[in-house]
Amino acid sequence: MRVTVDLDLCQGHGVCESEEPSVFELGKHEQVTILDERPSEELRAQVQAAVRYCPTSALRIIEEE
Ligand code: SF4
Repeated sequence: MRVTVDLDLCQGHGVCESEEPSVFELGKHEQVTILDERPSEELRAQVQAAVRYCPTSALRIIEEE
């Protein structure tokens, strides 16, 4: 899977970071940085939770072969 963010939508709520800090980093920034665009399958549940709970629906998972 690949994780993408629409920075036009991200408002820096940081929900994603609290779901999986190894993939999403906010820190002091106003918008998220994707640290790992292709996270391992073991992180799928956490990444899906980040996608689901992002208040602005800025995150997407794209399935790749
Ligand atoms: S939860 Fe959504 S709005 Fe908040 S930092 Fe992450 S991507 Fe941006």
